[in-house]
Amino acid sequence: MLVDKFDRTFPYLRLSITEICNFSCQYCLPDGYKKTGNENFLRLDEIDRLVDAFIELGVWKIRLTGGEPTIRQDFTKIARMISKRPEIKTLAFTTNGYKLKEHAQEWHDAGLNAVNISIDSLNAKRFHDITGHNRMNEVRAGIDKALEVGFEKVKINVVLLKGVNDDELDLYLDYIKDTRISVRYIELMQTGDNLTYFNKFHQSADHIRNQLLERGWVENLRAIGDGPAVNFTHPNYQGSIGIIAPYSKDFCTGCNRLRITSSGDLRLCLFGNIGIPLRHQLQSDDQKEPLKALIHKQLEYKASSHFLAMGDTGIMTNLSSTGG
Ligand code: SAM
Ligand code: SF4
Repeated sequence: MLVDKFDRTFPYLRLSITEICNFSCQYCLPDGYKKTGNENFLRLDEIDRLVDAFIELGVWKIRLTGGEPTIRQDFTKIARMISKRPEIKTLAFTTNGYKLKEHAQEWHDAGLNAVNISIDSLNAKRFHDITGHNRMNEVRAGIDKALEVGFEKVKINVVLLKGVNDDELDLYLDYIKDTRISVRYIELMQTGDNLTYFNKFHQSADHIRNQLLERGWVENLRAIGDGPAVNFTHPNYQGSIGIIAPYSKDFCTGCNRLRITSSGDLRLCLFGNIGIPLRHQLQSDDQKEPLKALIHKQLEYKASSHFLAMGDTGIMTNLSSTGG
């Protein structure tokens, strides 16, 4: 089991499989994805060895992310390869949903059992303005399909943006009244690339928290092993609301995840200052023990928290490059 010096355990791996994305979300890739020359993302065999090592280190939940993970031609193959490992209880992915309606069944059949879909507005025009794509209805149809084909967990990610979508809570509440969807409000995070945007549009998640409390929603008690989201429920609603507030005081105490970039670097924190290359240890099956030792050793350097409040975003330029 991976345990750091603050007694946090890490059963959860976020694995980025590409930096490429077809959307141009204003806070992430406002000018769309531009080739960097580093499009040599982890291959299937490398992912297999990586997953094998992390399973032996106690990981049982993996999220495929990016960039847009479903852009990879071999996305279904990757899912199938990971899900055949009985130790992996949750195989999730985060997607902008552009292909979800078409492929939900295939991806569920491939063993993915949880999906987070980003949908920052339920107003089609706003959705278009934020993402650069007029596809809100398509994405919503994809969410319906994900529920229909039986994904165990369906979550919607909403990045809270001041003056843009911060008046939409009631629309999301209507949406989840009779559906088992969890909406996750994420506070806009500063990244290396987005300072001007961040200063203009960052809104504290208290804005949502206060409205939820006024409407009779109850904050759930946090259990050991819960991630950093704070969850709210209401007896009249089938769905739930989560708040992810990285600027809040105790955010990092619940950290339970490690990240791997699409080129195979281990990131101990989304906002950390180093990436630890693992790829050289993924080239043959006999490298598993040194790989595990390297991961163990590096975990000693995981800091107690990030320094975002001081404007230190580490080496992360935007979330698509690190894996969101
Ligand atoms: N392309 C996929 C998607 O958008 O769902 C997966 C990758 S994306 C980087 C993962 C999540 O990070 C999305 O929900 C996105 O809205 C969120 N995100 C990206 N940049 C962010 C930022 N600066 N602050 C907060 N959330 C951000
Ligand atoms: Fe693409 Fe996701 Fe970033 Fe939007 S948030 S630009 S969909 S990687």
